[in-house]
Amino acid sequence: MMKNKKGIKGIYIELIDAFNEAARSTYPDEFLCMLRQDDGIISEMILVPGTVYGDSHSFMNDWMAPVDFSLIGTVHSHPGYSNQPSEQDLSYFSNRGGVHIITCLPYDRNSWKAYNSKGELLELEIFSDERDDFLDL
Ligand code: ZN
Repeated sequence: MMKNKKGIKGIYIELIDAFNEAARSTYPDEFLCMLRQDDGIISEMILVPGTVYGDSHSFMNDWMAPVDFSLIGTVHSHPGYSNQPSEQDLSYFSNRGGVHIITCLPYDRNSWKAYNSKGELLELEIFSDERDDFLDL
């Protein structure tokens, strides 16, 4: 369904900050949304109508998702200190393909990891959207 993973080279640091902030405000529930890429860089979060946030696992209604082939994956938060995919995450990833990011407490620039549809760790290069001085990790 989403097969555009080989084109993905990185992610904007501003987006990492944005999903961590969303995760903080949704805590202790999970935050979940889709990701869009632009020129091979993950650039935007797309909130999907019909998404239900829960303390066990969020549920996203795929049928409500906009038909948009720039969508390349998902990001969701864990309300604990592990950003490892759960069994549920792994089966969800494997049904979708693409890139899947999990962030965990304390929701900072080091608390996220990206996985492919098999649950294997992906290296993403960090880009900054016009603000080079923003790149102090
Ligand atoms: Zn999860």
